[in-house]
Amino acid sequence: MDRDRILLTPGPLTTTLRTKLAMLKDWGSWDSDFIAVTASVRQRLLDIVHGHDSHVVVPLQGSGTFSVEAAVATVVPRDGHVLVLDNGAYCKRAAKLTEMMGRRASTMAFAEDEPVSAAALEARLKAVASITHVVLIHCETGTGVANPLAEVAAVCEKHGKGLIIDAMSSFAALPIDARSMRFDALVAASGKCLEGVPGMGFVFLRRAILDACAGNSLSLAMDLHDQHAYMTKTGQWRFTPPTHVLVALSEAITQFVEEGGQPARLARYVENCRTLVDGMAGLGFKPFLKPEVQAPIIVTFHAPAHPNYEFRRFYEGAKSHGFVLYPGKLTQVETFRVGCIGAIGPNEMRQAVAAVGDTLREMGIPSGAPAL
Ligand SMILES: *Cc1c(COP(=O)(O)O)cnc(C)c1O
Repeated sequence: MDRDRILLTPGPLTTTLRTKLAMLKDWGSWDSDFIAVTASVRQRLLDIVHGHDSHVVVPLQGSGTFSVEAAVATVVPRDGHVLVLDNGAYCKRAAKLTEMMGRRASTMAFAEDEPVSAAALEARLKAVASITHVVLIHCETGTGVANPLAEVAAVCEKHGKGLIIDAMSSFAALPIDARSMRFDALVAASGKCLEGVPGMGFVFLRRAILDACAGNSLSLAMDLHDQHAYMTKTGQWRFTPPTHVLVALSEAITQFVEEGGQPARLARYVENCRTLVDGMAGLGFKPFLKPEVQAPIIVTFHAPAHPNYEFRRFYEGAKSHGFVLYPGKLTQVETFRVGCIGAIGPNEMRQAVAAVGDTLREMGIPSGAPAL
């Protein structure tokens, strides 16, 4: 079949033809046309969080994790102490990279099927005075749970702690307003809810802490302070920019604004998520999370109890019907994940459910119901 499959994965994801077509041109990195694209993308990213007065945004080459690592390396002083609120796989990754960046890291564990607790964070901050920074994963993509960003930001501000937010899978879909919440760094990337292609991240840095970030990074390539200083001076990226990724992101942001910005994107993803969960329920599938803690970004489903079920075969079956699913990321229970994000709507979600139903039939599995 010569048709692109629909990616129900949380990045890379399905992009529009317009976004793909934007990549059919070569750009010189120092050329004024490309410098203008960089400037325009940065302006429009700041628009999304209403951050012009309070923040700058610094793009960085690489996948999203590169930007999380860069944010920690740039924002946290070498003698800083980072507390990572941990309710899933991406939280554990953030704790690991914090340690590898040479910073003291502690984690605070929460159940994987529950949001982290701002009240528990407050108690910990009162008890452990050495903590300088908190890392929060806004939407924990490992399960799909939404964490309480505004509450955590309020606690950090009250106690004078820096806050680093991994908003990779939520940015541009869930509301984030820099005018009403304080954060030192917020990280996202091109290939998630903005529906660009993967290959670059970007970090919003609070202006008030920018000068103090000089010299924090132990890595040249990850130094966002240096990247910002160079970009301010020249309009250019330090080191080769991902030119095609950036122009695709620019085109994707134009479509994001045309669609109606964050509220419209959220509304479409909410409908995608509802269509998916309702359709899958009709096949017997059960989501891992309670609906009230589920972000409309990615849904974790329990694997069917039937002995014929095997994720590889299930995946290949759905793929042969045109839909690419995502493996689970939980260690204790067998699950798989389905993304609700990308240039797709409820029609594609209904087709995806039909493809899953066909796949179950082909595997001889009468129901998607899990063992309970
Ligand atoms: C996608 C994602 C990342 C970055 O992952 P990469 O594979 O490096 O792009 C980080 N945190 C969260 C919560 C994510 O969803």
